[in-house]
Amino acid sequence: MKKVLVLEDETSIRSFVVINLKRSGYDPVEAGTGAEALKQMELNPDIKVALLDIMLPDMDGFEVCRQIRATNSKIGIIMLTARTQEMDKVTGLMTGADDYVTKPFSPAELTARIDALYRRVGGGDEVPSDEVVHGPFRLNLRNRTLEKNGERVRLTQVEYAIIKLFMENPGRALSREDILNSVWGRDYFGEVKIVDVNIRRLRIKIEDDPTNPTYINTVWGYGYKWGF
Ligand code: CA
Repeated sequence: MKKVLVLEDETSIRSFVVINLKRSGYDPVEAGTGAEALKQMELNPDIKVALLDIMLPDMDGFEVCRQIRATNSKIGIIMLTARTQEMDKVTGLMTGADDYVTKPFSPAELTARIDALYRRVGGGDEVPSDEVVHGPFRLNLRNRTLEKNGERVRLTQVEYAIIKLFMENPGRALSREDILNSVWGRDYFGEVKIVDVNIRRLRIKIEDDPTNPTYINTVWGYGYKWGF
């Protein structure tokens, strides 16, 4: 089982996270204090990803992060931050963490981040590193191919580049400009509308219902986000 440590003192948030992790196939190990979290890490050396709340009754989450890191360099660590104001603190003290999620977060966003981290730390041992797997999709980076539920989806090189960008940034809102710069290059003189045209085509190819997309989500007035 893919064990994930969930350190959060607020029971309601912790249960919410735990339920969603179980739903996504993870085996959550719960802790309500920093001391409990460190104890659980000792008892469960096979934990590969840890979610750490920052404001805790006994110590702050950064201290927990530091102590875990002191003995474990491989584990993936995601900080759960309460407000955007904590961002500075996060960037300053993030020495040991790999990622952070700001509350309130959606279950989809959280599991997407955990999935990504799990793959990076080698949690999915059965998945070769030249593949990105997310939900029904399998992107082969060597052959530049995409499969959905084991069926090959025929993509143009531009569509492939867009999907690769999405799948490598799950749950992250990407602006049209981000996509344009990454896929077409900074020297491209065309209009950002070309992004929308390609997204429309991609949706027809990969969505179950292109008129009601669930994989490539629109972020109104901004761009698009990969996540489900
Ligand atoms: Ca807290």
